[in-house]
Amino acid sequence: MSSRTLIIAANWKMNKGPQETSDFLNAFIPKLDGFTGSADIVIAPPFISIPTAVGTLGGHSSVAVSAQNVSDKDNGAFTGEVSTDMLKELHVEYVILGHSERRSIYDETDAIINAKVKKTIAAGLKPIFCIGETLEEREGGKLESVLRTQITEGLKDVSDADLANVVIAYEPVWAIGTGVTATAEQAQDTHKFVRSVIADLYNTTAAEAIRIQYGGSVKPANAAELLGQPDIDGALVGGAALDPDSFFGILENS
Ligand code: PEP
Repeated sequence: MSSRTLIIAANWKMNKGPQETSDFLNAFIPKLDGFTGSADIVIAPPFISIPTAVGTLGGHSSVAVSAQNVSDKDNGAFTGEVSTDMLKELHVEYVILGHSERRSIYDETDAIINAKVKKTIAAGLKPIFCIGETLEEREGGKLESVLRTQITEGLKDVSDADLANVVIAYEPVWAIGTGVTATAEQAQDTHKFVRSVIADLYNTTAAEAIRIQYGGSVKPANAAELLGQPDIDGALVGGAALDPDSFFGILENS
């Protein structure tokens, strides 16, 4: 059993406006009275629902709020963007960066993601830094080189001290929203590899300390096996985090 605290995060993607956010939280928060685990719990609503989430949580300190993206700029003529200062004003704690949907649909490169990671850390917020390979890359024997590049480029110029505020989310692209989960063995092997890359880039202390979440069709039925792996320190959950019972079911299996 590692000494790393599990971190279970809900990535709602472009789902749940303010009304549905408050409905979810009003159903979810009472369930936490019966939660005996110690995992950190994070909810990442769309930007527009963050004020509602913060207000509904009302200082419920066991649930942190995350954004799903942020600008790498401070302020100014960047139509449609949201800054780290704006997130801080709302007491947001985490920012999901490098999600495969941002990489593939919005063409976010490792360099853009790196700029956002550094901006997030500089603002005192914590990146949930996503990495992952496509099925083609895995089957083509490129798993390790793809992940090594994403990690090396995405965390470029992030110091040892700042790495302590980073959570990595390993999300095989072929397992996201597909219902196909990596086997616990595949996930464990890959997490172990990711940790070894951090050891190469930083040191073994940093590698032992960093939390690495698994993401990709996590649900209550497979959570216990995945979260029981020695190098899996939590989950980033999409579809199964849209329903309070199912998200709580994952927590109960953590
Ligand atoms: C995600 O998008 O981060 C994710 C893991 O989605 P799902 O759980 O739906 O596969």
